[in-house]
Amino acid sequence: MLRQLTISELTGRLARRECSARDALRSCLDHLAQVDGQVKAFLSHDAADALAQAEAADRDLAAGVTPAEKPLLGVPIALKDVLCHRGQPLNCSSKILGQFVSPYDATVVERLKAAGAVVFGRLNMDEFAMGSSTENSAFWTTLNPWDTSRIPGGSSGGCAASVAASECFASIGSDTGGSIRQPASLCGIVGVKPTYGLVSRYGLVAFASSLDQIGPFTKDVRDSATILQAIAGHDRRDSTSVPQPVPDYAKALTGDLRGLRIGIVKEFNIGGLDPEVDAAVKLAVKQLETLGAEIVEVSLPHSDYAAATYYIIAPAEASANLARFDGIRYCARVDGRDPAELNSRTRGAGFGAEVKRRVILGTYVLSSGYYDAFYLRAQKVRTLIRNDFLKAFEQVDAIVSPTAPTAAFKVGEKSGDPLQMYLSDIFTISCNLAGICGISVPCGFTKSPKLPIGLQVLGKPFGEETMFRVAHAYEQSTDWHRERSPLA
Ligand code: GLN
Repeated sequence: MLRQLTISELTGRLARRECSARDALRSCLDHLAQVDGQVKAFLSHDAADALAQAEAADRDLAAGVTPAEKPLLGVPIALKDVLCHRGQPLNCSSKILGQFVSPYDATVVERLKAAGAVVFGRLNMDEFAMGSSTENSAFWTTLNPWDTSRIPGGSSGGCAASVAASECFASIGSDTGGSIRQPASLCGIVGVKPTYGLVSRYGLVAFASSLDQIGPFTKDVRDSATILQAIAGHDRRDSTSVPQPVPDYAKALTGDLRGLRIGIVKEFNIGGLDPEVDAAVKLAVKQLETLGAEIVEVSLPHSDYAAATYYIIAPAEASANLARFDGIRYCARVDGRDPAELNSRTRGAGFGAEVKRRVILGTYVLSSGYYDAFYLRAQKVRTLIRNDFLKAFEQVDAIVSPTAPTAAFKVGEKSGDPLQMYLSDIFTISCNLAGICGISVPCGFTKSPKLPIGLQVLGKPFGEETMFRVAHAYEQSTDWHRERSPLA
């Protein structure tokens, strides 16, 4: 089935003229029409605009444009509702943005288009990327294509579900504390959080600016490497983007792990880790050893503090970033007698409960009298956490762990208990605090019901090549990535 192919398979067929970009897009849109009523991954999509892009791709193909020139030529790729796509709605799955339409393309969208991709659709998420299940979307909850009584993870739940349901060949999301890796894990696909500074965030609505990164969701590791290749690299419009050359990621996919040292984390043996997840990850570690890697135990002594640190720093930054949604410059305005009342009515009506919780928390930890006790202390612990990783990476080339402590949970199971929800990110959060890179690859299934389990591979800052090498060698030695969800 065309829609179930990987990007590399699709671009091969397109280059051999065995199908057209139009066919590829149609296969996605037809399937979307069939299954999205159950998955609810898309908030909207502009079929006419997508078709025009696919037709342009077909003209390029007819003119002999090669994959070397445009590596994503004719590949339908969808976007999380947090990235600017010119002329398309942008809501961050919030009510507060009203009828907002993006006036420009995010840098990643520009680069995807330059690589020939057909960029379409707005994918559901937790409001302003705050959450781990998409239940915080102001519109609706996206459902897991493996079992629609369960959540797809979050905050980029729509991104993961749409790829797992073959409604697009890949999607682009953002990861502040796990929002790419955790949903990828729960939906049985690959998701990458690049090193802080590798991908420009120009045109990404900011949640926590010192943590946010943009990355791909794909069906296999090679496809993720292809997309990262296209979107990574310096952009002067994002001052945090690092001016250094991007290596050739495809070259890193050697299938060979000999000579590599891979760390497992002593402190990650936590309570609350599902036994089936634990068993699948332990088997994956054995497999890495079989492939030639040396397994070494490393210590990240401050990991216990990662969640607490994150839930001070991320809300603090969010409270500042979200101040711009004031009802004056944009937003679905609710009028008041004076600007202060207008502001508070607009924000009161427009923001959901979780966003309000974070803004209040963030404002509190930044206020005088509490700044030193909470925010400053969290910043210091963040440095300790980063130093833990840098020290561990003196001993090993990569670190592996579960991506999430459990497989996909039921809708409603954790939505009443923010602390339980926050624990979904226990293995992913420290990667963002440390600014390093991470990927989730499928590494098995729970028995009954059959739900995907993910293996996280963490790499050094700008260590994407080794991260991809490990994930790819593991993936290619197993069949997990070939499994497709019942709705694919
Ligand atoms: N689940 C985490 C949170 O709620 C991480 C979200 C994210 O990475 N955007 O903040």
